[in-house]
Amino acid sequence: MKPIPFNNHYIKLGDDFYVNTYPTPVAKPELISFNHDLSQQLGLCDTVVNSPEAVEIFAGNQIATGSEPLAMTYAGHQFGRFSPQLGDGRAILLGEIISPKGIRYDLQLKGSGRTYYSRGGDGRAALGPILREYLVSEAMAKLGVSTTRALAAVTTGEDIARMQLVSGAILTRVATSFVRVGTFQYFSARGDLESIKKLADHVIARNYPQISTANNVYIALLQAVVERQATLIAQWMQLGFIHGVMNTDNMSIAGETIDYGPCAFMDAYDHEQVFSSIDYGKRYAYSNQPSIGLWNLTRLAECLVPLFNQTNINTGVQIAETILHSYAKHYENNWLAGMRRKIGLLEQKEGDRELIEDLLDTMAMNQADFTLTFYYLSQLNLDDMSRDKTLHVLFSNPKALNPWLEKWRKRLHDETTLSDKERQKKMQTANPLYIPRNHQIEAAIRAAEDEGDFSVFHQLHQVLQNPYQPQKGKEAYALPPKPHEVVKKTFCGT
Ligand code: AMP
Ligand code: MG
Repeated sequence: MKPIPFNNHYIKLGDDFYVNTYPTPVAKPELISFNHDLSQQLGLCDTVVNSPEAVEIFAGNQIATGSEPLAMTYAGHQFGRFSPQLGDGRAILLGEIISPKGIRYDLQLKGSGRTYYSRGGDGRAALGPILREYLVSEAMAKLGVSTTRALAAVTTGEDIARMQLVSGAILTRVATSFVRVGTFQYFSARGDLESIKKLADHVIARNYPQISTANNVYIALLQAVVERQATLIAQWMQLGFIHGVMNTDNMSIAGETIDYGPCAFMDAYDHEQVFSSIDYGKRYAYSNQPSIGLWNLTRLAECLVPLFNQTNINTGVQIAETILHSYAKHYENNWLAGMRRKIGLLEQKEGDRELIEDLLDTMAMNQADFTLTFYYLSQLNLDDMSRDKTLHVLFSNPKALNPWLEKWRKRLHDETTLSDKERQKKMQTANPLYIPRNHQIEAAIRAAEDEGDFSVFHQLHQVLQNPYQPQKGKEAYALPPKPHEVVKKTFCGT
């Protein structure tokens, strides 16, 4: 077996950016899951990650050849309050690899022991949150959303103290960058412009090479990050996904969904939905996500502005304001384009936004399941209404949907060049049947924690590999929770 072909760059930025840190070995690691497909995509399948001894690497008990483990430094606004010193308190970057397609990836352990940045924490992760992150991040990837990935998960054979003693676990996760908005804030808070520049140059070379020839690469960087985040958050909204902790330290500079904590997908549609047990002020509610995205990007802009125009700060501020203003347009365009796809519209017409909002309002008033509403909508015919009842039953007042369906059909008649079959096929690529529903994640966690049974986790993970395809015998995975199964709160498990 070949060694992992590490090719580490971040470490060259110098020790202001990290602290060299080895994982703390664990008692008795056992593999929960290894992601073969991802290892192939990363070009790692003929390396040690695919051997029996890999479990020791995923547990932090063995340091792979070429790995230069470190904990990254960062700061961040947590629920609006600035913490000048956070950093990887329970994560360790093992190193970087370059995939066969030439994309550079970070490999990181999460839950691998204390670091310089652990403060009062134990540096460990509980089994439940690791299973949740594995399931949700992999589901997001299959749904077509930009995200960090899960390469492997192991149990540690050690108990850790949370509300009670729980099993410890470690996730090996993969990102095109673990640099966060908060990484820039760390240096900005210290007035260290040179390090901000160094970090920005690193990010541009690695994640935004297409802007390297721009007149001012730092201006282009802000613009590019704004666009990626607008695109990302529009995707979350179209899937009913709630991140739960959109602190600036949990916002990736590469535009990937990162740091899955108390995240969840909505069942019944509710603009105000919050799951996180610690989000008392509903700061990160579903409908707040687009504006919180902008708030976070404004914090990034504050870090980068001194690099825009070094002779006149006001000019720099004006440039940043113009870029931040463009966020709303990018978000809106992405959201509208995606929602048009979800309801099967090919052309852009005046009134589309209202039509979409009307549907969402009707769903909210009738506690209709977000995912299934769009899924069943994508199976309706234009003139034959016999299938409408599959959609009706999702609404507390089934008749409430009829005026909307009438408008929708009229709107489609105004443009339709597609047959029912063609439109349905198109719509089904925008409307998944299977999402990682909270009650199913909970069931997977309960079986693993209480019975040591990982089969529920594996079965759910399997179904989520193909979110847009109906799967024989897997109908139950598409269903919303029964009243006694509803999960109202999620915990970040720190
Ligand atoms: P999060 O919002 O979960 O991404 O974490 C916020 C900060 O708390 C980060 O700096 C983490 O590294 C740190 N942290 C979270 N859990 C732990 C833990 N169990 N031990 C040490 N640090 C932690
Ligand atoms: Mg975090």
